[in-house]
Amino acid sequence: MSKIKKIAVLTSGGDAPGMNAAVRAVVRAAIFHNLEVVGIEHGFEGMIKGELFRLESKDMRNIIHRGGTILRSARSLEFKTKKGRANAFNNLKKQNIDAVIVIGGDGTFRGAGVFSQEYDIPFIGIPGTIDNDMPGTDFTIGFDTALNTVVETIDKIKDTASSHDRTFFIEVMGRDAGFIALQAGIATGAEAILIPEVEGQAENLREFLLKAKKLKKMSNIILVAEGNKLGGAQQVADQVKDEFKDFGIRVNVLGHMQRGGSPTAFDRFLASRLGVAAVDALIDNQRSVMVGYKNHEVVHVPFNKTIKGLRNINDELLKVADILMI
Ligand code: ATP
Repeated sequence: MSKIKKIAVLTSGGDAPGMNAAVRAVVRAAIFHNLEVVGIEHGFEGMIKGELFRLESKDMRNIIHRGGTILRSARSLEFKTKKGRANAFNNLKKQNIDAVIVIGGDGTFRGAGVFSQEYDIPFIGIPGTIDNDMPGTDFTIGFDTALNTVVETIDKIKDTASSHDRTFFIEVMGRDAGFIALQAGIATGAEAILIPEVEGQAENLREFLLKAKKLKKMSNIILVAEGNKLGGAQQVADQVKDEFKDFGIRVNVLGHMQRGGSPTAFDRFLASRLGVAAVDALIDNQRSVMVGYKNHEVVHVPFNKTIKGLRNINDELLKVADILMI
């Protein structure tokens, strides 16, 4: 029998579309199992400051389609200190919180893991980040929406690229990982994709531009992942602009628009499944695990396996991209 009666839920790290759908699923699943639920605003920062408030099923109306997070998010330096975590624990105790569900990226799970080693409070994690860079899950909540936003935007830029014979260097998010760049590149038919996981980019890029010049193909989309080793889109463009003057080189950094917007059906569906699974995991007395999604099924992955470095990029996707680019 589970001893858990009251749980808290928070969102932490960068916001991602679908976080609200996950909060909604957690709250409604908890209420279904006769648990009380408390929301914590501003992630771990709010835990330290005592920003806790009761959540009811009706508070979850009309949020499944909204981007961002109604609980707000934050990065908390104080939570990295023992004193900060002690204050956070006192606030959880004051409200009789038995367990916490955190929605965020690997940093969030690292913080949750540290906390629950110090204090006897179980934590369950739900992967919420647009970067899709977490080992143990095929998808993180928000990735699909960000990918679709990027694809839609590149399609628009392509219209100008082809009308004016221009070569666009487009920078997309993803932190140290190239998932958004690689998949958006395949989906938009980009001519070149620069991601941190692939070596020899300077040579590859030069080779591509020489080939394009020879073919007189002056309209091109070159996708640059923000964590790419040669630098961001502007830096990469600067490195080749003198040698390739004939190309009308332009740079576009897509920026925060990639993090916002209404979640796709896939992200809402994923968030709903993982929210319910997270509450089930707590009731099953699990702790320090992430609920993830592998081969279309919900899986449970220990926190220490989700934060041990980057998820590998799929070789088959790299091959597809290579074959389809000119
Ligand atoms: P995103 O992938 O969107 O950036 P994230 O969850 O990885 O999300 P971070 O800022 O890395 O975002 O981590 C969120 C918060 O987790 C940090 O602001 C900090 O409060 C906490 N945290 C991270 N690492 C630790 C740690 N080693 N000890 C304690 N707390 C930590």
